[in-house]
Amino acid sequence: MLARICFPATANKIAFFNTVRNIRSISGMSKFDLPDRLKGSEKSVWVEYIQLALQYKPLNLGQGFPDYYAPENVTNALAAIAKSDNPLLQQYTRGFGHPRLVNAIAKLYSKLINRDLNPNKEVLVTAGAYEALYATLQGHTNPGDEWIIIEPFFDCYVPMVQSARGIPRYIALKPKSTSGTVTSGDWVFDRKELENLFNEKTKGIIINTPHNPTGKVLTLDELQFIANLAKKWNTLVISDEVYEHIVYEPYKHIRIATLPDMYERTITIGSAGKTFSVTGWKIGWAYGPENLLFNLQVVHQNSVYTCSTPIQEAVAIGFELEMERFDQPECYFRSLAQELLPKRDFMAKFLREVGMVPTIPEGGYFMLANWSALENKVRLQEEIDENKDYRFTKWMTKNVGLQGIPPSAFYGPEHKHLVEDYVRYCFIKKDENLKAAADILKKWAVQ
Ligand code: PMP
Ligand code: GLN
Repeated sequence: MLARICFPATANKIAFFNTVRNIRSISGMSKFDLPDRLKGSEKSVWVEYIQLALQYKPLNLGQGFPDYYAPENVTNALAAIAKSDNPLLQQYTRGFGHPRLVNAIAKLYSKLINRDLNPNKEVLVTAGAYEALYATLQGHTNPGDEWIIIEPFFDCYVPMVQSARGIPRYIALKPKSTSGTVTSGDWVFDRKELENLFNEKTKGIIINTPHNPTGKVLTLDELQFIANLAKKWNTLVISDEVYEHIVYEPYKHIRIATLPDMYERTITIGSAGKTFSVTGWKIGWAYGPENLLFNLQVVHQNSVYTCSTPIQEAVAIGFELEMERFDQPECYFRSLAQELLPKRDFMAKFLREVGMVPTIPEGGYFMLANWSALENKVRLQEEIDENKDYRFTKWMTKNVGLQGIPPSAFYGPEHKHLVEDYVRYCFIKKDENLKAAADILKKWAVQ
Protein backbone atom coordinates (compact mmCIF):
# COMPACT_ATOMS: atom_id res chain seq x y z
CA MET A 1 0.00 0.00 0.00
CA LEU A 2 2.79 2.36 1.05
CA ALA A 3 4.74 1.43 -2.08
CA ARG A 4 1.79 2.26 -4.25
CA ILE A 5 1.28 5.69 -2.67
CA CYS A 6 4.97 6.63 -2.90
CA PHE A 7 5.98 5.00 -6.21
CA PRO A 8 2.91 4.24 -8.26
CA ALA A 9 4.74 3.07 -11.37
CA THR A 10 6.99 0.65 -9.48
CA ALA A 11 4.10 -0.58 -7.36
CA ASN A 12 2.10 -1.39 -10.48
CA LYS A 13 5.03 -3.27 -11.92
CA ILE A 14 5.38 -5.27 -8.72
CA ALA A 15 1.67 -6.05 -8.75
CA PHE A 16 1.92 -7.12 -12.37
CA PHE A 17 4.88 -9.46 -11.73
CA ASN A 18 3.18 -10.85 -8.64
CA THR A 19 0.15 -11.68 -10.74
CA VAL A 20 2.27 -13.36 -13.39
CA ARG A 21 4.11 -15.31 -10.71
CA ASN A 22 0.78 -16.35 -9.17
CA ILE A 23 -0.56 -17.57 -12.50
CA ARG A 24 2.66 -19.52 -13.06
CA SER A 25 2.63 -20.95 -9.60
CA ILE A 26 -1.03 -22.00 -9.61
CA SER A 27 -0.87 -23.65 -13.00
CA GLY A 28 1.14 -26.58 -11.71
CA MET A 29 -0.88 -27.13 -8.57
CA SER A 30 -3.25 -29.99 -7.85
CA LYS A 31 -5.64 -27.41 -6.39
CA PHE A 32 -7.24 -27.14 -9.82
CA ASP A 33 -7.35 -30.80 -10.68
CA LEU A 34 -10.70 -32.45 -11.23
CA PRO A 35 -12.35 -32.85 -7.81
CA ASP A 36 -12.26 -36.40 -6.43
CA ARG A 37 -16.00 -36.86 -6.74
CA LEU A 38 -15.72 -36.39 -10.53
CA LYS A 39 -12.69 -38.59 -11.05
CA GLY A 40 -13.39 -41.65 -13.15
CA SER A 41 -16.09 -39.82 -15.13
CA GLU A 42 -13.77 -38.11 -17.60
CA LYS A 43 -14.67 -40.36 -20.51
CA SER A 44 -18.03 -40.03 -22.29
CA VAL A 45 -18.98 -42.30 -25.14
CA TRP A 46 -21.19 -39.53 -26.59
CA VAL A 47 -18.47 -36.89 -26.62
CA GLU A 48 -16.07 -39.33 -28.23
CA TYR A 49 -18.43 -40.83 -30.82
CA ILE A 50 -20.09 -37.57 -31.85
CA GLN A 51 -16.61 -36.17 -32.47
CA LEU A 52 -15.73 -39.28 -34.50
CA ALA A 53 -18.91 -38.87 -36.54
CA LEU A 54 -18.03 -35.24 -37.26
CA GLN A 55 -14.53 -36.20 -38.30
CA TYR A 56 -15.18 -39.31 -40.42
CA LYS A 57 -18.76 -38.56 -41.55
CA PRO A 58 -19.97 -42.19 -41.43
CA LEU A 59 -23.59 -43.18 -41.83
CA ASN A 60 -24.53 -42.51 -38.24
CA LEU A 61 -26.50 -45.23 -36.44
CA GLY A 62 -24.81 -44.27 -33.16
CA GLN A 63 -26.40 -41.61 -30.99
CA GLY A 64 -30.15 -42.10 -30.62
CA PHE A 65 -32.06 -39.46 -32.54
CA PRO A 66 -34.33 -39.45 -35.60
CA ASP A 67 -32.74 -38.18 -38.81
CA TYR A 68 -36.09 -37.02 -40.21
CA TYR A 69 -38.64 -34.31 -39.44
CA ALA A 70 -40.34 -34.28 -36.05
CA PRO A 71 -44.17 -34.44 -36.01
CA GLU A 72 -45.74 -31.22 -37.24
CA ASN A 73 -48.03 -30.82 -34.24
CA VAL A 74 -45.17 -29.86 -32.03
CA THR A 75 -42.97 -28.10 -34.58
CA ASN A 76 -45.90 -25.96 -35.83
CA ALA A 77 -46.80 -25.17 -32.23
CA LEU A 78 -43.27 -23.97 -31.58
CA ALA A 79 -43.26 -21.85 -34.75
CA ALA A 80 -46.55 -20.23 -33.73
CA ILE A 81 -45.25 -19.58 -30.21
CA ALA A 82 -42.23 -17.77 -31.62
CA LYS A 83 -44.61 -15.33 -33.37
CA SER A 84 -47.25 -15.27 -30.65
CA ASP A 85 -48.80 -11.97 -29.59
CA ASN A 86 -48.26 -13.03 -25.97
CA PRO A 87 -44.82 -11.54 -25.18
CA LEU A 88 -44.57 -13.50 -21.95
CA LEU A 89 -44.09 -16.74 -23.89
CA GLN A 90 -40.54 -15.57 -24.58
CA GLN A 91 -39.77 -14.89 -20.91
CA TYR A 92 -39.00 -16.90 -17.77
CA THR A 93 -41.78 -19.13 -16.59
CA ARG A 94 -42.57 -20.93 -13.32
CA GLY A 95 -39.39 -22.61 -12.07
CA PHE A 96 -40.75 -26.09 -11.34
CA GLY A 97 -42.53 -26.25 -14.68
CA HIS A 98 -44.51 -24.02 -17.02
CA PRO A 99 -48.14 -24.12 -15.79
CA ARG A 100 -49.60 -25.33 -19.08
CA LEU A 101 -47.04 -28.15 -19.26
CA VAL A 102 -47.29 -29.39 -15.66
CA ASN A 103 -51.06 -29.43 -16.07
CA ALA A 104 -50.78 -31.50 -19.24
CA ILE A 105 -48.25 -33.89 -17.71
CA ALA A 106 -50.33 -34.34 -14.55
CA LYS A 107 -53.45 -34.96 -16.63
CA LEU A 108 -51.77 -37.57 -18.81
CA TYR A 109 -50.11 -39.51 -16.03
CA SER A 110 -53.15 -39.29 -13.75
CA LYS A 111 -54.85 -41.31 -16.48
CA LEU A 112 -51.91 -43.64 -17.11
CA ILE A 113 -51.23 -44.50 -13.48
CA ASN A 114 -54.80 -44.16 -12.29
CA ARG A 115 -54.12 -41.67 -9.51
CA ASP A 116 -54.78 -37.93 -9.30
CA LEU A 117 -51.48 -36.12 -9.61
CA ASN A 118 -51.10 -32.61 -8.29
CA PRO A 119 -49.49 -30.68 -11.17
CA ASN A 120 -47.71 -28.24 -8.85
CA LYS A 121 -46.38 -30.68 -6.30
CA GLU A 122 -45.99 -34.03 -7.97
CA VAL A 123 -44.46 -32.98 -11.30
CA LEU A 124 -41.14 -31.28 -11.99
CA VAL A 125 -40.10 -30.14 -15.47
CA THR A 126 -36.38 -30.50 -16.14
CA ALA A 127 -33.75 -29.88 -18.80
CA GLY A 128 -34.22 -33.27 -20.43
CA ALA A 129 -34.47 -36.59 -18.65
CA TYR A 130 -30.78 -36.06 -17.87
CA GLU A 131 -31.58 -33.29 -15.42
CA ALA A 132 -34.43 -35.27 -13.89
CA LEU A 133 -31.98 -38.10 -13.21
CA TYR A 134 -29.38 -35.68 -11.92
CA ALA A 135 -31.77 -33.84 -9.60
CA THR A 136 -33.05 -37.16 -8.26
CA LEU A 137 -29.62 -38.56 -7.56
CA GLN A 138 -28.23 -35.31 -6.15
CA GLY A 139 -31.34 -34.75 -4.12
CA HIS A 140 -31.56 -38.24 -2.67
CA THR A 141 -27.99 -39.31 -2.02
CA ASN A 142 -25.95 -39.01 1.15
CA PRO A 143 -22.27 -39.97 1.06
CA GLY A 144 -21.99 -43.75 1.10
CA ASP A 145 -25.56 -44.44 -0.03
CA GLU A 146 -25.72 -47.36 -2.42
CA TRP A 147 -27.64 -47.33 -5.69
CA ILE A 148 -28.31 -50.59 -7.50
CA ILE A 149 -27.82 -50.24 -11.24
CA ILE A 150 -28.80 -52.83 -13.80
CA GLU A 151 -26.20 -53.33 -16.53
CA PRO A 152 -26.27 -52.36 -19.31
CA PHE A 153 -27.36 -48.93 -18.01
CA PHE A 154 -27.76 -45.55 -19.65
CA ASP A 155 -24.20 -44.42 -19.10
CA CYS A 156 -24.79 -41.23 -17.08
CA TYR A 157 -26.31 -43.09 -14.12
CA VAL A 158 -22.91 -44.01 -12.72
CA PRO A 159 -21.18 -40.60 -12.89
CA MET A 160 -24.32 -39.05 -11.42
CA VAL A 161 -24.32 -41.46 -8.49
CA GLN A 162 -20.61 -40.93 -7.93
CA SER A 163 -20.73 -37.14 -8.13
CA ALA A 164 -23.39 -37.27 -5.42
CA ARG A 165 -20.90 -39.38 -3.41
CA GLY A 166 -23.06 -42.46 -3.69
CA ILE A 167 -21.80 -45.95 -4.51
CA PRO A 168 -22.99 -47.84 -7.59
CA ARG A 169 -23.69 -51.55 -7.08
CA TYR A 170 -24.06 -53.45 -10.33
CA ILE A 171 -26.12 -56.35 -11.53
CA ALA A 172 -25.80 -57.48 -15.14
CA LEU A 173 -28.45 -58.52 -17.60
CA LYS A 174 -27.00 -61.46 -19.49
CA PRO A 175 -28.37 -63.03 -22.67
CA LYS A 176 -29.70 -66.54 -22.10
CA SER A 177 -28.47 -67.49 -25.55
CA THR A 178 -26.33 -65.90 -28.25
CA SER A 179 -27.55 -67.78 -31.31
CA GLY A 180 -30.85 -68.40 -33.09
CA THR A 181 -33.49 -65.73 -32.52
CA VAL A 182 -32.52 -63.67 -29.52
CA THR A 183 -34.97 -61.13 -28.12
CA SER A 184 -34.44 -58.50 -25.48
CA GLY A 185 -36.58 -60.65 -23.18
CA ASP A 186 -33.71 -63.17 -23.24
CA TRP A 187 -31.54 -60.65 -21.39
CA VAL A 188 -32.21 -61.38 -17.74
CA PHE A 189 -30.81 -60.66 -14.30
CA ASP A 190 -30.13 -63.34 -11.73
CA ARG A 191 -32.74 -62.91 -9.03
CA LYS A 192 -30.61 -64.28 -6.21
CA GLU A 193 -27.81 -61.91 -7.19
CA LEU A 194 -30.18 -58.94 -7.13
CA GLU A 195 -31.57 -59.98 -3.77
CA ASN A 196 -28.05 -60.16 -2.37
CA LEU A 197 -27.24 -56.61 -3.44
CA PHE A 198 -29.91 -55.05 -1.22
CA ASN A 199 -28.77 -54.13 2.26
CA GLU A 200 -29.33 -51.38 4.85
CA LYS A 201 -27.11 -48.96 2.91
CA THR A 202 -29.21 -49.28 -0.27
CA LYS A 203 -30.85 -45.95 -1.09
CA GLY A 204 -32.50 -47.21 -4.21
CA ILE A 205 -32.47 -49.02 -7.52
CA ILE A 206 -32.49 -47.43 -10.96
CA ILE A 207 -34.53 -49.25 -13.56
CA ASN A 208 -35.02 -48.39 -17.22
CA THR A 209 -37.94 -49.81 -19.15
CA PRO A 210 -38.18 -49.99 -22.16
CA HIS A 211 -34.48 -50.38 -21.93
CA ASN A 212 -31.58 -48.66 -23.63
CA PRO A 213 -29.63 -50.42 -25.15
CA THR A 214 -31.24 -53.92 -25.14
CA GLY A 215 -34.86 -52.88 -25.79
CA LYS A 216 -36.00 -55.05 -22.88
CA VAL A 217 -39.45 -54.26 -21.51
CA LEU A 218 -39.50 -55.39 -17.89
CA THR A 219 -42.26 -57.92 -17.27
CA LEU A 220 -44.82 -57.65 -14.50
CA ASP A 221 -43.10 -60.51 -12.74
CA GLU A 222 -39.68 -58.83 -12.91
CA LEU A 223 -41.14 -55.52 -11.74
CA GLN A 224 -42.94 -57.19 -8.86
CA PHE A 225 -39.73 -58.89 -7.82
CA ILE A 226 -37.91 -55.52 -7.81
CA ALA A 227 -40.82 -53.80 -6.05
CA ASN A 228 -40.89 -56.40 -3.29
CA LEU A 229 -37.19 -55.91 -2.63
CA ALA A 230 -37.60 -52.12 -2.61
CA LYS A 231 -40.40 -52.46 -0.05
CA LYS A 232 -38.54 -55.03 2.03
CA TRP A 233 -35.46 -52.78 2.28
CA ASN A 234 -37.39 -49.50 2.31
CA THR A 235 -35.63 -48.07 -0.74
CA LEU A 236 -36.47 -45.73 -3.58
CA VAL A 237 -36.97 -46.72 -7.20
CA ILE A 238 -35.94 -44.39 -10.00
CA SER A 239 -37.82 -45.52 -13.05
CA ASP A 240 -36.38 -44.14 -16.28
CA GLU A 241 -39.24 -44.54 -18.76
CA VAL A 242 -38.15 -42.23 -21.55
CA TYR A 243 -39.14 -44.85 -24.18
CA GLU A 244 -42.53 -45.54 -22.52
CA HIS A 245 -44.53 -45.08 -25.75
CA ILE A 246 -42.21 -47.13 -27.94
CA VAL A 247 -43.26 -50.72 -27.25
CA TYR A 248 -43.90 -53.37 -29.90
CA GLU A 249 -46.88 -55.74 -29.83
CA PRO A 250 -47.53 -57.89 -27.88
CA TYR A 251 -45.40 -56.30 -25.16
CA LYS A 252 -46.83 -53.76 -22.76
CA HIS A 253 -45.14 -51.03 -20.81
CA ILE A 254 -45.87 -51.37 -17.10
CA ARG A 255 -45.14 -48.46 -14.79
CA ILE A 256 -43.67 -49.71 -11.52
CA ALA A 257 -45.37 -46.76 -9.77
CA THR A 258 -48.70 -48.51 -10.41
CA LEU A 259 -47.81 -51.63 -8.40
CA PRO A 260 -49.24 -51.84 -4.86
CA ASP A 261 -47.59 -49.37 -2.44
CA MET A 262 -44.99 -48.38 -5.00
CA TYR A 263 -46.04 -44.83 -5.93
CA GLU A 264 -44.84 -43.69 -2.49
CA ARG A 265 -41.27 -44.77 -3.22
CA THR A 266 -40.96 -44.21 -6.97
CA ILE A 267 -39.72 -41.27 -9.02
CA THR A 268 -40.61 -41.76 -12.66
CA ILE A 269 -38.74 -39.96 -15.40
CA GLY A 270 -39.80 -39.05 -18.93
CA SER A 271 -38.47 -37.11 -21.91
CA ALA A 272 -40.16 -34.90 -24.49
CA GLY A 273 -37.19 -35.61 -26.74
CA LYS A 274 -38.14 -39.28 -26.87
CA THR A 275 -41.92 -38.84 -26.59
CA PHE A 276 -42.21 -36.42 -29.51
CA SER A 277 -39.01 -37.26 -31.44
CA VAL A 278 -37.46 -33.87 -30.69
CA THR A 279 -34.29 -34.85 -28.85
CA GLY A 280 -32.79 -31.38 -29.34
CA TRP A 281 -35.55 -29.77 -27.29
CA LYS A 282 -34.16 -31.14 -24.04
CA ILE A 283 -37.28 -31.05 -21.91
CA GLY A 284 -37.91 -33.85 -19.46
CA TRP A 285 -39.85 -34.41 -16.27
CA ALA A 286 -40.06 -36.35 -13.07
CA TYR A 287 -43.26 -37.27 -11.30
CA GLY A 288 -43.78 -38.85 -7.93
CA PRO A 289 -44.98 -38.13 -4.41
CA GLU A 290 -44.62 -34.58 -3.12
CA ASN A 291 -42.17 -35.44 -0.33
CA LEU A 292 -39.77 -37.18 -2.73
CA LEU A 293 -40.06 -34.51 -5.42
CA PHE A 294 -39.24 -31.81 -2.90
CA ASN A 295 -35.57 -32.92 -2.89
CA LEU A 296 -35.43 -32.64 -6.67
CA GLN A 297 -36.95 -29.17 -6.53
CA VAL A 298 -34.20 -28.03 -4.18
CA VAL A 299 -31.53 -29.18 -6.65
CA HIS A 300 -33.38 -27.78 -9.66
CA GLN A 301 -34.12 -24.33 -8.18
CA ASN A 302 -30.44 -23.77 -7.45
CA SER A 303 -28.98 -25.11 -10.66
CA VAL A 304 -31.27 -24.81 -13.69
CA TYR A 305 -34.09 -22.93 -11.97
CA THR A 306 -36.41 -22.79 -14.99
CA CYS A 307 -36.50 -24.45 -18.41
CA SER A 308 -37.19 -22.89 -21.80
CA THR A 309 -40.68 -21.35 -21.86
CA PRO A 310 -41.52 -21.62 -25.60
CA ILE A 311 -40.42 -25.23 -25.74
CA GLN A 312 -42.45 -26.13 -22.67
CA GLU A 313 -45.48 -24.43 -24.19
CA ALA A 314 -45.03 -26.39 -27.43
CA VAL A 315 -44.63 -29.70 -25.58
CA ALA A 316 -47.78 -28.88 -23.60
CA ILE A 317 -49.70 -28.33 -26.84
CA GLY A 318 -48.33 -31.65 -28.11
CA PHE A 319 -49.60 -33.45 -25.03
CA GLU A 320 -53.00 -31.77 -25.19
CA LEU A 321 -53.48 -32.93 -28.76
CA GLU A 322 -52.38 -36.50 -28.04
CA MET A 323 -54.75 -36.65 -25.10
CA GLU A 324 -57.64 -35.58 -27.30
CA ARG A 325 -56.94 -38.48 -29.66
CA PHE A 326 -55.59 -40.84 -27.04
CA ASP A 327 -57.68 -43.84 -28.09
CA GLN A 328 -57.21 -43.35 -31.80
CA PRO A 329 -54.55 -45.02 -33.90
CA GLU A 330 -53.17 -41.62 -35.00
CA CYS A 331 -52.22 -40.78 -31.42
CA TYR A 332 -48.45 -40.38 -31.61
CA PHE A 333 -48.07 -42.53 -28.50
CA ARG A 334 -49.34 -45.40 -30.66
CA SER A 335 -48.31 -44.44 -34.16
CA LEU A 336 -44.61 -44.01 -33.36
CA ALA A 337 -44.13 -47.68 -32.47
CA GLN A 338 -46.12 -48.65 -35.58
CA GLU A 339 -43.86 -46.50 -37.68
CA LEU A 340 -40.73 -47.99 -36.10
CA LEU A 341 -41.73 -51.65 -36.32
CA PRO A 342 -40.84 -52.14 -40.02
CA LYS A 343 -37.57 -50.28 -39.44
CA ARG A 344 -36.76 -52.62 -36.55
CA ASP A 345 -37.55 -55.67 -38.65
CA PHE A 346 -35.62 -54.40 -41.63
CA MET A 347 -32.56 -53.83 -39.48
CA ALA A 348 -32.81 -57.27 -37.86
CA LYS A 349 -33.01 -58.81 -41.32
CA PHE A 350 -29.98 -57.11 -42.80
CA LEU A 351 -27.90 -57.71 -39.69
CA ARG A 352 -28.72 -61.42 -39.91
CA GLU A 353 -27.93 -61.46 -43.61
CA VAL A 354 -24.39 -60.26 -42.96
CA GLY A 355 -23.86 -62.82 -40.21
CA MET A 356 -24.53 -60.77 -37.08
CA VAL A 357 -26.92 -61.99 -34.38
CA PRO A 358 -29.33 -59.18 -33.50
CA THR A 359 -31.24 -58.98 -30.24
CA ILE A 360 -34.80 -58.13 -31.30
CA PRO A 361 -35.94 -55.28 -29.06
CA GLU A 362 -39.38 -55.37 -27.42
CA GLY A 363 -39.28 -51.58 -27.09
CA GLY A 364 -37.19 -48.48 -27.77
CA TYR A 365 -35.25 -47.82 -30.95
CA PHE A 366 -31.92 -49.49 -30.45
CA MET A 367 -30.71 -52.92 -31.47
CA LEU A 368 -27.78 -54.83 -30.06
CA ALA A 369 -26.02 -57.18 -32.44
CA ASN A 370 -23.32 -59.75 -31.86
CA TRP A 371 -20.70 -59.41 -34.60
CA SER A 372 -18.27 -62.16 -33.52
CA ALA A 373 -18.83 -64.18 -36.72
CA LEU A 374 -17.35 -61.24 -38.66
CA GLU A 375 -14.32 -60.67 -36.49
CA ASN A 376 -11.91 -61.85 -39.21
CA LYS A 377 -13.05 -58.92 -41.39
CA VAL A 378 -12.06 -56.26 -38.87
CA ARG A 379 -8.48 -55.16 -38.24
CA LEU A 380 -9.02 -54.70 -34.54
CA GLN A 381 -5.27 -54.33 -33.96
CA GLU A 382 -5.38 -50.95 -35.72
CA GLU A 383 -7.31 -49.46 -32.80
CA ILE A 384 -5.90 -49.04 -29.35
CA ASP A 385 -8.88 -49.12 -27.00
CA GLU A 386 -8.96 -51.61 -24.19
CA ASN A 387 -12.40 -52.97 -25.04
CA LYS A 388 -12.96 -54.88 -28.23
CA ASP A 389 -16.36 -53.32 -28.96
CA TYR A 390 -14.74 -49.86 -28.91
CA ARG A 391 -12.10 -51.08 -31.34
CA PHE A 392 -14.77 -52.64 -33.57
CA THR A 393 -17.01 -49.54 -33.66
CA LYS A 394 -14.12 -47.14 -34.22
CA TRP A 395 -12.63 -49.27 -36.97
CA MET A 396 -16.02 -49.56 -38.65
CA THR A 397 -16.57 -45.80 -38.45
CA LYS A 398 -13.22 -45.05 -40.04
CA ASN A 399 -12.93 -47.87 -42.58
CA VAL A 400 -16.43 -49.02 -43.46
CA GLY A 401 -18.33 -45.77 -42.96
CA LEU A 402 -20.96 -47.01 -40.51
CA GLN A 403 -21.18 -45.90 -36.90
CA GLY A 404 -22.62 -47.82 -33.97
CA ILE A 405 -22.12 -47.45 -30.23
CA PRO A 406 -19.91 -49.77 -28.14
CA PRO A 407 -22.23 -51.25 -25.50
CA SER A 408 -19.49 -51.81 -22.93
CA ALA A 409 -19.93 -48.06 -22.27
CA PHE A 410 -23.11 -49.16 -20.48
CA TYR A 411 -21.40 -51.59 -18.09
CA GLY A 412 -19.36 -51.12 -14.94
CA PRO A 413 -15.68 -52.12 -14.89
CA GLU A 414 -16.27 -55.78 -13.94
CA HIS A 415 -18.69 -56.72 -16.66
CA LYS A 416 -17.58 -54.86 -19.80
CA HIS A 417 -16.26 -58.11 -21.24
CA LEU A 418 -19.83 -59.46 -21.44
CA VAL A 419 -20.64 -57.28 -24.45
CA GLU A 420 -17.29 -56.93 -26.16
CA ASP A 421 -18.63 -58.79 -29.20
CA TYR A 422 -21.65 -56.48 -29.53
CA VAL A 423 -22.54 -53.19 -31.15
CA ARG A 424 -25.62 -50.99 -30.65
CA TYR A 425 -27.34 -49.57 -33.72
CA CYS A 426 -30.16 -47.02 -33.73
CA PHE A 427 -33.04 -47.57 -36.16
CA ILE A 428 -35.12 -44.38 -35.87
CA LYS A 429 -33.68 -43.34 -39.22
CA LYS A 430 -35.03 -42.65 -42.71
CA ASP A 431 -35.70 -45.83 -44.68
CA GLU A 432 -33.18 -44.73 -47.29
CA ASN A 433 -30.50 -44.48 -44.60
CA LEU A 434 -31.34 -47.89 -43.19
CA LYS A 435 -31.13 -49.24 -46.72
CA ALA A 436 -27.77 -47.51 -47.18
CA ALA A 437 -26.56 -49.08 -43.91
CA ALA A 438 -27.64 -52.50 -45.19
CA ASP A 439 -25.75 -51.93 -48.44
CA ILE A 440 -22.61 -50.79 -46.64
CA LEU A 441 -22.60 -53.83 -44.37
CA LYS A 442 -23.34 -56.28 -47.17
CA LYS A 443 -20.60 -54.89 -49.37
CA TRP A 444 -18.12 -55.11 -46.50
CA ALA A 445 -19.20 -58.57 -45.32
CA VAL A 446 -18.78 -60.26 -48.74
CA GLN A 447 -15.25 -58.93 -49.31
N1 PMP B 1 -32.52 -42.07 -20.20
C1 PMP B 1 -32.32 -42.88 -21.25
C2 PMP B 1 -32.49 -44.35 -21.07
C3 PMP B 1 -31.97 -42.34 -22.48
O1 PMP B 1 -31.75 -43.15 -23.52
C4 PMP B 1 -31.80 -40.95 -22.59
C5 PMP B 1 -31.40 -40.35 -23.91
N2 PMP B 1 -32.51 -39.82 -24.49
C6 PMP B 1 -32.03 -40.15 -21.47
C7 PMP B 1 -32.38 -40.75 -20.28
C8 PMP B 1 -31.86 -38.67 -21.52
O2 PMP B 1 -32.94 -38.06 -22.17
P1 PMP B 1 -32.96 -36.51 -22.56
O3 PMP B 1 -32.42 -36.39 -23.92
O4 PMP B 1 -34.41 -36.13 -22.44
O5 PMP B 1 -32.13 -35.81 -21.53
N1 GLN C 1 -30.17 -41.42 -25.34
C1 GLN C 1 -29.47 -41.29 -26.57
C2 GLN C 1 -28.69 -42.56 -26.86
O1 GLN C 1 -28.63 -43.44 -26.05
C3 GLN C 1 -28.58 -40.07 -26.59
C4 GLN C 1 -27.54 -40.03 -25.53
C5 GLN C 1 -26.73 -38.77 -25.52
O2 GLN C 1 -26.68 -38.04 -26.49
N2 GLN C 1 -26.08 -38.52 -24.44
O3 GLN C 1 -28.16 -42.64 -27.92
